[in-house]
Amino acid sequence: MSEERPGHSATTADVVAELRRRAAFVMVSHVKPDGDTLGAGLALGLALERIGKRVCYFQQDPVPRTLRFLPGAARVSRELPKDLPADALFVFCDMSDPARAGSFLPAPARENVLDIDHHLGNTLFGALNYVLPAECSTGTCVMHLLRGLNVEIDAEIATCVLTTIMTDTGGLMHSNTSPEALELAAALMRRGADKERITREIFGNKRVAATRLLGRVVGAMQFGHDGRYCWSCVDDATLAACDADGEDTEDMVNVLLGQEGVEVAALFKAYDGEVRVSLRSAGRVNVQAAAASLGGGGHFRAAGMEYAGALHEAVAAVDAALVAQGLSSRA
Ligand code: AMP
Ligand code: MN
Ligand code: MN
Repeated sequence: MSEERPGHSATTADVVAELRRRAAFVMVSHVKPDGDTLGAGLALGLALERIGKRVCYFQQDPVPRTLRFLPGAARVSRELPKDLPADALFVFCDMSDPARAGSFLPAPARENVLDIDHHLGNTLFGALNYVLPAECSTGTCVMHLLRGLNVEIDAEIATCVLTTIMTDTGGLMHSNTSPEALELAAALMRRGADKERITREIFGNKRVAATRLLGRVVGAMQFGHDGRYCWSCVDDATLAACDADGEDTEDMVNVLLGQEGVEVAALFKAYDGEVRVSLRSAGRVNVQAAAASLGGGGHFRAAGMEYAGALHEAVAAVDAALVAQGLSSRA
């Protein structure tokens, strides 16, 4: 995989040297975890353990049902060990801002923070920031480090890294599916990565409740800007009516984006006391910029935010933010 090191990113050699220097690590994944944040942390953590390091895995939210198959997933916890050494390195994976780790994590000193990420607009919050926006997943950033560490990529580590690729490329379909990503996926399969299992657990095997919920979301689709914008909502009542929960909404926004003529899609998730928004773009409108203008972030074609206000306000604010990024009706 080609390496891109923008001015602000540490070199692979610098990060590898720091990983070798430290003895203890806390791998940190973001709230509402996905296969990239967790897979990247587990891949690096398992590799560090193989070379004799002490590693624990912090995640505020429970491991989603679809990711419990990941090697090491059962070790994830929202508590830190009492005897954690003072110079343990906190490795934040797949987040542009440390707030994405949630409020349970006691804020580590900056000197003990390594930030590994591929988002646009990463705030470079670590003492070391390994931020490679051209990479398709945080897991492929981790792969550069594993090569630098010269650790053997066994089947477990390979499965974790392939999960990051499959998750963030939407099963090798999104535009970030580069030839390098496909070559790496092939190499990981040769190392024993269980692609069948990843496909089944993450993309297949849907709960009936999730499919019922999808029916509701599709039934409530609304179109704007001459059919270029498609949006829908899920609230507590909708979830309850389908016997579904928040995990079942994962990826539904892509169904909205997949409708003919749609350039931008939004799924408004008003449940569990929050309003969160998932945005997707077919490639013309920068949804990362729209999300960032409302306090969120992400990538050019996939972004999100939490909205501090009512659902109808979120709908209006997101519409305005998308128009500011070029979403418009036909002339
Ligand atoms: P989602 O719609 O939750 O799948 O998120 C799409 C992308 O936006 C992912 O890359 C997330 O990391 C990013 N994202 C989602 N929510 C936020 C947020 N509150 N702040 C920053 N980035 C976010
Ligand atoms: Mn993520
Ligand atoms: Mn990612």
